[in-house]
Amino acid sequence: MEETLESLRKKIDKIDLDLLELLNKRGAVVEEIGQIKETQGINRHDPVREQKMLEVVKANNEGPFPTSALQYIFKQIFNASLTLQKIETKKVLLVSREKQSEDTIVDVRGEKIGDGQTHFVMGPCSVESYEQVREVALAMKDQGLKLLRGGAFKPRTSPYDFQGLGVEGLKILRQVADDFGMAVVSEIMHPGNIEEALDYVDIIQIGARNMQNFELLKAAGQVKRPVWLKRGLSATIEEFIYAAEYIVSNGNDQLILCERGIRTYEKATRNTLDISSVPILKKETHLPVAVDVTHSGGRRDLLLPLAKAAIAIGADVVMAEVHPDPATALSDSAQQMDIAQFNSFMEGVQPLVSLNQ
Ligand code: PEP
Ligand code: MN
Repeated sequence: MEETLESLRKKIDKIDLDLLELLNKRGAVVEEIGQIKETQGINRHDPVREQKMLEVVKANNEGPFPTSALQYIFKQIFNASLTLQKIETKKVLLVSREKQSEDTIVDVRGEKIGDGQTHFVMGPCSVESYEQVREVALAMKDQGLKLLRGGAFKPRTSPYDFQGLGVEGLKILRQVADDFGMAVVSEIMHPGNIEEALDYVDIIQIGARNMQNFELLKAAGQVKRPVWLKRGLSATIEEFIYAAEYIVSNGNDQLILCERGIRTYEKATRNTLDISSVPILKKETHLPVAVDVTHSGGRRDLLLPLAKAAIAIGADVVMAEVHPDPATALSDSAQQMDIAQFNSFMEGVQPLVSLNQ
């Protein structure tokens, strides 16, 4: 007797129910396997086994479905099984909040970065002389600030621009910092310079242009000295977090992330301060987050508003450049503050800073 549409549909409905039952049976077995693997500490995701099963599907397929369609369906089943086992196929990063829920606090000579208060890193773009750094440090001391920055190794876009005083510059920073009881933050560009820099710096800065210099990240991860990692010029937040992971996974968990603006089509500013990265980084990682208002805006008139925004949105540190005479500065002369501007900057941020005290 010829089958009617209705009887065929009934057959399909029955097959669908059988499939449903089989899928759930499979799911129950998957769960059991997951438990055994967990007790044995074996990775539950087994891509080799999955691949083998896809080969079996191919070898046994007699149609009418094409193999590719069936393999697609099986892949969906595999994925659903992984979800059932709540498997994170993505590794949980050491820097992530998931790994560590409490905030990391980086203690630099008594300054506890990440403790909920606002901290400041200030100093000239480049170290030019003892007197120049001293003048800035004096003003900082008057404001009760302790974290002194200055570039000794300068990553300049043009090879003809001032490249920094090198180790001489680090010595100047150390001298001034010791004279005033301060801590030194300075950029190191080459893994080979890290060992020597330990004699002079309290925080090793890794600059934007070196955010994905993996050998430098690994080297900074292998020493016991806090690191200040700046976001790359065109780095996504994800890439920034992975760069941080390089440092922490190499053994150094004393790390501060610094948003310093990213490259966009906007020309009104030197870079675009990605202010939303601050709460994202605070949410995704347990590390202190800094905002460099000098290099992000690249404009002196924006330093105060950007700093206010940074503090209001939850940044742990604000970084800005100060020079006794910006007009004659050997780098970044358009955006550094002079001492008077620095003092009024500090006055301007005070209402927000006091909210965190
Ligand atoms: C700096 O802070 O001295 C510097 C060079 O900044 P960036 O690496 O963010 O350009
Ligand atoms: Mn600069």
